[in-house]
Amino acid sequence: MKILVVNAGSSSLKYQLIDMDTEGVLAKGNVERIGIDGSFLKAKGNGKEKIFEKPVPDHTVAIELVLNALQDEEVGVIKSMDEITAVGHRMVASGEYFKETTLVTPEVLTTLKEKTFELAPLHNPAAVKGVEGCMKVMGDKPMALVFDTSFHQTMPKHAYLYGIQYEDYERYGVRKYGFHGTSHKFVSEEAIKYLGKKAEDTKIVTCHLGNGSSISAVKGGKCVDTTMGFTPLAGVLMGTRSGDIDVSAVEFLAQKKGLSFSEAVNYLNKQCGVQGISGVSSDFRDLIAEADKGNERCQLALDMFAYQVKRYVGAYAAAMGGLDAIVFTAGIGENTPTVRAAVCSGLEFLGVEMDKKANEGKNTGAIREISTKASKTKVLVIPTNEELVIARETAALV
Ligand code: ADP
Repeated sequence: MKILVVNAGSSSLKYQLIDMDTEGVLAKGNVERIGIDGSFLKAKGNGKEKIFEKPVPDHTVAIELVLNALQDEEVGVIKSMDEITAVGHRMVASGEYFKETTLVTPEVLTTLKEKTFELAPLHNPAAVKGVEGCMKVMGDKPMALVFDTSFHQTMPKHAYLYGIQYEDYERYGVRKYGFHGTSHKFVSEEAIKYLGKKAEDTKIVTCHLGNGSSISAVKGGKCVDTTMGFTPLAGVLMGTRSGDIDVSAVEFLAQKKGLSFSEAVNYLNKQCGVQGISGVSSDFRDLIAEADKGNERCQLALDMFAYQVKRYVGAYAAAMGGLDAIVFTAGIGENTPTVRAAVCSGLEFLGVEMDKKANEGKNTGAIREISTKASKTKVLVIPTNEELVIARETAALV
């Protein structure tokens, strides 16, 4: 069975064609600059790469281009569209309307548009354009929606509610939803397999540390808490996002800087985080290079990040009543030993004993144990694979 995984943004569309028998990637690529001059598709398949330059005014044309590339004589891997069993679409926000992966129907599309667009105005409308483009080009091929928020739907009410008037939660759906769910799901499942314990007996903290970062508490294989909230702005400070901040400080800042409320939120999303603290970069590779040369604000940004992640590891160990493993994943989590060491330092009281050499070892793309054999709590690096989760969920549904 072959599943096409589509991740559509407002001006880009990424895809992977996955063979479910081997769970290997047959082909992948990215259509860039949709609706903008100079659009193109960079496609990989058969061990080759090819650029298709063509005007791509909308997502329907983008999907047409992808399907042509999948059947191309150089980078193509299929003879016809019939070889694709189904399409799995990445969707960001589900609100409380979709608790799990859902097949696309006209009713589902209506609910998505009417109820979830306002929850993720940058992401969901773009993803729906991807779905509708596929429907136009691929006819009645089964399509599934896999939500970033689904894995977090098992959080108990006392974890996801904010301390606002209960009626406002009911009326407007204002609560914590969490994000990066497919990643937290994938790495926690891999960790459970690695630990060789029954899922119900495990307590794991998963740290998805990338440009956007979130940490989840996964107890018995289910998410019981996560750091991102109603939007991805909450939790630890990130590349350009501030993370948690006192709302009254935001009002004060907005007044001082002459910003409207939505301008202030935009500032917190796009100009703060480690970028704002360092004044140098949102990219951890730059921060580490500059800190090594003595830049104190870059070091401060790194210290703040590690401290905040550590604080959530401790909080979630308390929330779960114990800890079997800490998992690091995504760009920073998989590639940055200094951040992992800083997060885990001082966690000996939680049974963590780091293996310095293993932590500094090369990223092999496989699961790596970076705690000592004697460490009661395991520390693992697990490369994330959100596309594979989307493909698995889609295959299971169809
Ligand atoms: P996102 O998917 O949220 O855009 P990533 O998971 O790709 O982000 O993470 C990007 C971050 O990972 C950057 O801060 C970058 O510096 C850091 N990073 C460190 N080492 C690497 C590496 N070898 N490859 C990619 N990203 C890396």
